[in-house]
Amino acid sequence: MNSASGPRHVDTGEAHSARVYDYILGGKDHYAVDKEAGDAMVAEWPALPVHMRENRAFMHRAGRYLARDAGIRQFIDIGTGLPTSPNLHEVVQREAPESRILYVDNDPMVLTHARALLTSSPEGRTAYVDADMRDPDAILSDPAVEATIDLTQPVGLMVIGMLHFILSGDGDHELVRRLLAPLPPGSYLAATIGTADFAPAQVGRVAQEYERRGMPMQLRTHAEASAFFDGMDLVEPGVVQAHCWNPEPGAPPVEEQDDAMYGGLARKR
Ligand code: SAH
Repeated sequence: MNSASGPRHVDTGEAHSARVYDYILGGKDHYAVDKEAGDAMVAEWPALPVHMRENRAFMHRAGRYLARDAGIRQFIDIGTGLPTSPNLHEVVQREAPESRILYVDNDPMVLTHARALLTSSPEGRTAYVDADMRDPDAILSDPAVEATIDLTQPVGLMVIGMLHFILSGDGDHELVRRLLAPLPPGSYLAATIGTADFAPAQVGRVAQEYERRGMPMQLRTHAEASAFFDGMDLVEPGVVQAHCWNPEPGAPPVEEQDDAMYGGLARKR
């Protein structure tokens, strides 16, 4: 396993994005600082749990689409988060048990839980790489990639609920292009992208709470979100709010101002 920043330990004195997300989604893998951070954020924007659930639900629908409708059998999931069932491998192996999933995250807490991500179906396979998205070469050169992913076959690249932690100064769009570069035509990019377009004041205050805790955040306009898919063929309905992307029939309605993610899925030419 690679680490872009050397050995790290789980810091229980500072909030971490994966643990705050876990707390707000009702998980068990967080500390008092994460709860404090999550409560402060929900106080600023009570819809935050709705927004996070809709982000997670987009991952489920996009994963299912790729496995069921697009015939994708291998996935790279960047910014995996703490295991919350169903994880991507559970979603796609339900459709196609032979699916292979490579999980990537840079949070030491996620690393300690990686075993829970490695519960593949017997026919398929899962692997975990401890690396930073800002160092695509570290990800792509990790031996787990070759062991898990056949680069002659299409891949589903998932970058869900994490691009808001990648700043434009990190080379945001370029990083995604570099991760897509070795994937063959017919591969897909699924991404959700944080935005302040629908509840600017509230979402802006949540971003400040993250920033105050050492997690600077970048929110993007529709044009900036769409640029991640430049040169690719978007699956209908294009880049829309996550809850509007091919919702399940009968899904409960979500207010526009409660969802601060754009979501999109596109095919590489
Ligand atoms: N994809 C999951 C989890 C999102 S939480 C979902 O949508 O449900 C965001 C995750 O991104 C966290 O686990 C955090 O550790 C990870 N992350 C943030 N910045 C990262 C980076 N630069 N490289 C890799 N992972 C990162």
